[in-house]
Amino acid sequence: MQLIERRRPNILIYLEALLARTPSFHPAYADVKEKVRTWTAGYAGETWFDRMWLDYTSDENFRVIPDYVTTSHQMDAICVFSKFIAIIEIKNIGGVIEMDGTTRQFTRTLHSESIGMRNPDDQLYRHEKKIRQLTNYKIPVIGIVVFTNPSSILKLKAVERRVVHLSGLPFVLDQLIEQYTTYPSFDVPQLCDLLMAHQCPPAPYQHESIPYPLQTGVFCSACSFSKMVYSRDLWRCLNCSNRQQDAHLLALQDYRLLIGSTISNQEFRRFTEMESRSNAVKILKRCSFETVGTHRSLRYLIPEMDLRNKTK
Ligand SMILES: [Zn+2]
Repeated sequence: MQLIERRRPNILIYLEALLARTPSFHPAYADVKEKVRTWTAGYAGETWFDRMWLDYTSDENFRVIPDYVTTSHQMDAICVFSKFIAIIEIKNIGGVIEMDGTTRQFTRTLHSESIGMRNPDDQLYRHEKKIRQLTNYKIPVIGIVVFTNPSSILKLKAVERRVVHLSGLPFVLDQLIEQYTTYPSFDVPQLCDLLMAHQCPPAPYQHESIPYPLQTGVFCSACSFSKMVYSRDLWRCLNCSNRQQDAHLLALQDYRLLIGSTISNQEFRRFTEMESRSNAVKILKRCSFETVGTHRSLRYLIPEMDLRNKTK
C-alpha cells in the first residue's frame, strides 16, 4: 500500500543527463558513470523494498510513505501502523558489511577493498527523534536498517538496532505487531496526515557549473551514442534504421537539467545541431510548451521530465 509514488531522485536524473552529454574520452566521464551506477543501485533497492509490500499481508491497518522528506531529514520509507511507526533505512550494497555498535563504525568490504560509509544506525537515531517530535512522543518509533542486496553478508557487533535483509522484514514487522499488541491504538490515516503536513516537495538538484563543453546533438535511443538528423518530420539515426518523431524531447530534458529551464529557437538549433530555423519552429510549437516573450525574444519553458525512467 503506497500513499505516494516513489520518484526517481533528482540527482540521478541530473547525473544521467550529464553522463549522456559528457564525451566518453573526457577525464570526468568515469567519475560521472560511477555516480550514476551508485544512485541507480540505491534507487533499485528502494523499488525492491516497495515491491515487497505487494506480498506482505497483515490483519493490521498500516500505510507506507516512501521517500519522506522534511526540511532537515530524508527517510527512505516510513511504515505507519496503529500502535507503532517503523522508519526504514534502505541499503543496496553488496560485499561484507560490518557494523559496530560501540565504535559506530560501518564498513563495506568488496573485492578485498574496505571503505567506511555513513552509519545507517546513526542516521536512524536522528530520524527517530524527528518522528517522535512530530508525533508528540505518543507512539513508539522504531528504526530498521534493511539491506536489499541478497548477496551482502552482514556482520554485526554490539548493534542493538534491528538490521535485516529485505526477505526478513515481514518477520520483523510481525514481531513488532505482536510486541506492541497491548499498546494504545492511533488512527493510521490521521497519523499519516500529520506526517504528510511536514513533507517537503522534492527540491530540484542544484549543481555546480559544468567546467567542460557538453556534447550537442539528438541521440538515438536504440544505439545511444549515434546522432540523429531531422528530415521529413522525423529524426533518423545515421547508424541504425531507427526513426523517431519526438527524439528532441530527451535533448530538451538534458538542456533543462544541465543548462537552463528556458530555450530560444537559436539555442535549440545549436544544442540539437539542427540547421533549419523553420523545422525548429515547427518542432518547438508541436511541444506545446508555455512561452515567454515574443518574436525574437520568444523563449520556450521546458517542463520537468524524466524520460530515462525505464520503470514507466
Ligand atoms: Zn541508432
